[in-house]
Amino acid sequence: MIKYGELTTKKGNRKEFIRVLSQNIKRLIDDDMIVTSDLSRMYIECENVESVSKKLKKIFGIHGIATVYKVNNIDEVLDVSLKIMDKSKKTFKVVTKRSDKSFKTSSMDYSRILGGQILKNTNFKVDVHNPDIILNVEIRKDGIYVYTSEVSGLGGYPVGIAGKGLLMLSGGIDSPVCGYLAMKRGVNVECIYFDSPPHTSIEAKNKVKKLSDIINNYSGRVKLHVVPFTHLQEEIYKNCSTDYMITIMRRMMYRICEKYAKKIGAKVIINGESIGQVASQTLDSLLCINEVTNMPIIRPVATFDKLEIIEIAKEIGTYDISILPYEDCCTVFVPKHPVIKPDTEKAKKYENSFDYESLIDECVNNIYTIDSFKDEFDDIL
Ligand code: ATP
Ligand code: MG
Repeated sequence: MIKYGELTTKKGNRKEFIRVLSQNIKRLIDDDMIVTSDLSRMYIECENVESVSKKLKKIFGIHGIATVYKVNNIDEVLDVSLKIMDKSKKTFKVVTKRSDKSFKTSSMDYSRILGGQILKNTNFKVDVHNPDIILNVEIRKDGIYVYTSEVSGLGGYPVGIAGKGLLMLSGGIDSPVCGYLAMKRGVNVECIYFDSPPHTSIEAKNKVKKLSDIINNYSGRVKLHVVPFTHLQEEIYKNCSTDYMITIMRRMMYRICEKYAKKIGAKVIINGESIGQVASQTLDSLLCINEVTNMPIIRPVATFDKLEIIEIAKEIGTYDISILPYEDCCTVFVPKHPVIKPDTEKAKKYENSFDYESLIDECVNNIYTIDSFKDEFDDIL
């Protein structure tokens, strides 16, 4: 049994939430399992409960997961209860929920009746304040559901419900975490990676592929769009003062992202910038870099400490890949003293010294896409 969590507060959209969640779940489990849902719960009928629960723990939009036993007759509840109550525990309480009002006994009364039967048949004691076991009985029209334990799900909204976002995915620690966090709020994430061969290696690109594949496990259908960035980057290198190179490179990245986001129907850009982490992420830098686009930019880790980001990276399984030592396009061209307080007018002056518009179009037109659902990775990591 799946409990929806936060999406139950969105009354108007509830049906759509449930539809998307059920679609995401069906994509991860076997075809022959029966998934049913109503406005407050979803049920999956399955034999291999363990492995299905494990998959469900990676799906956003799920608040709780419980292994429940379904019976059709109220007289069978006692038997099931005795079977599932952990005998190593001492105390219990029964909590009954009755949505089927044709069942005439009230929830309180039924809890009392069942509790009495359990006391008669076992050595358990009742403790209503701090029980070792909570025995839940849900009396519904389609059957009676009995369960004792529930594990937490990831929470959040089902991926896809919020629309599409374009994640700037580098090989680092921060941006995959941002992908995960955006997915948590229901964003259907597609990734964009700026590739600068031969200055950056095939290993660096494979690392990014691998990262997009890992975040893909969280019920997304993550595509990776690769931007051939070399030509534009070399022109920046030739035409701009070295201390402004990263600033201008970032401005170019955002311009490309905006154009491409519009092309694929993404409504926001998602980025791993974190305030003050490096020179290009001071508030002054962000102001200057952000100036080139009107698109909303979501920076999920903007206010996180690095250690907090690392903690999530470890939890979601991206950390070990992120720390592999392959150079990214930003590290290859990194100047010794990047400007910390860039002046937008100065940046514009450098940019206007070469025809960046056509180079941007060249980048956008040559973007190619790796669909991690279809493409086999030539995994050389
Ligand atoms: P990360 O750990 O995510 O690489 P970082 O701390 O190394 O971040 P930067 O390299 O300054 O920071 O990059 C800031 C953000 O810009 C990244 O989190 C990512 O969203 C984006 N970015 C940087 N390089 C690339 C790239 N080659 N392709 C796509 N996005 C990039
Ligand atoms: Mg990086």
